[in-house]
Amino acid sequence: MQNPFDSVIEQLENVSKLIEVDTKILEKLKKPNKILEGEVSAGGKKYHAYRVQYNNARGPYKGGIRYHPQVNMDEVKALAAWMTFKCAAVNIPYGGGKGGIAVDPKGLTRDELEELSRGWVRLFFKDIGPEKDIPAPDVYTNPQIMEWMVDEYSKLAGKPTPAAFTGKPIERGGSIGRESSTSEGGIIILLELLKKLGKDPKGLTVAIQGYGNVGHFAAFYLHEKGFKVVALSDSKGGIYNPDGFEPQKIFKCKLEKGALNQCHIEGSVTDAEGKKITNEELLELDVDILIPAALENQITEENANNIKADIILELANGPTTPKADTILNKKRKIIVPDILANAGGVVGSYFEWLQNMKNDKWDEKKFSEELNKNLVLAFEDIWKKSKELDIELRTAAYVVAVERVAKAMG
Ligand code: NAD
Repeated sequence: MQNPFDSVIEQLENVSKLIEVDTKILEKLKKPNKILEGEVSAGGKKYHAYRVQYNNARGPYKGGIRYHPQVNMDEVKALAAWMTFKCAAVNIPYGGGKGGIAVDPKGLTRDELEELSRGWVRLFFKDIGPEKDIPAPDVYTNPQIMEWMVDEYSKLAGKPTPAAFTGKPIERGGSIGRESSTSEGGIIILLELLKKLGKDPKGLTVAIQGYGNVGHFAAFYLHEKGFKVVALSDSKGGIYNPDGFEPQKIFKCKLEKGALNQCHIEGSVTDAEGKKITNEELLELDVDILIPAALENQITEENANNIKADIILELANGPTTPKADTILNKKRKIIVPDILANAGGVVGSYFEWLQNMKNDKWDEKKFSEELNKNLVLAFEDIWKKSKELDIELRTAAYVVAVERVAKAMG
């Protein structure tokens, strides 16, 4: 299995071949500023907890907290590095960090989940806060978990401190629009790309791997804009219908039945028009656009040659290994890299934090307008750089990001 932190180093090496980066700065960028770890307990059991503070040259550390059995130091380090470059790529005043707990949250009761989440905050309290390090949700963490965390933080701080975490429920200092902003942002970027390519979104077929927070909102937005969402999947498998799904109906079904592959006989999807597929099959479908929205290392050298989609929109972090990237680039596939494609989430978090810091409340219109403004500009910068240096979008995004971080460090 590809070590995701090795991918980070490779990406940095690629950039240093294209632009001049001071050697000392480059070496510093290959290591996190600070690694925090310890044990947290829930229901009498202990779990390993992490926070990696990668770089804060451009602002406080920022990044989500993941609860997953496979969370490990290399993964958290890679995710923290990617946050650093993501915040720089879309030009928001944050550095990068990431956290997690190696746990299967599906095996915990609600009380145990709360105990675990409050424990994480007590463990890292001294090192986090609105101007130091601001965590947010990631895989298998959600607004409820952020609510417990901000409550624990506020108790320890002796005052309400909503700006210490983003991704909170709206009634607890969260922002309208934040929960769906990763997906909304991804679709804003996709539409900009299609404009550059002179393609009409209407009727373009899309397959989405992962039907959690990011995947299901992406399906909603795509459907709304006229794309045809033909395949969806979650950790238990997927469903395919060449005529397209109604994402709202499928979402309701997943909530009721617990798994997408139980939904192929529901609503508009019947055995006759839709069928069960595996996650591997989903990636190789003959569609216009493929959206990985689950975990890293899904597109590898083993399956890259079988990918048929012309556009890959990386809503997940690190879904494509560097070797797969090379294969896809040779095949002239367009990959919208994670640090651009899914940056709507952290831009949305930044808006939530701004509102908390200024005791302000934005409405949906303002949130969407600001998100659009920020991401269209970011896309333009990266698109221009890719044309100027004749490089693909991923490298262009890293060049733009490393230039900005290096400037702040130098
Ligand atoms: P989530 O926990 O809400 O959903 C994860 C989804 O992936 C679930 O549907 C799960 O069933 C599915 N999944 C898990 N293992 C899978 C597998 N092996 N194959 C297929 N599907 C699988 O998480 P999320 O917040 O939607 O995050 C998804 C991805 O997006 C992650 O890579 C995350 O880092 C990235 N991301 C999330 C945000 C955010 O705001 N939540 C922002 C930027 C990037």
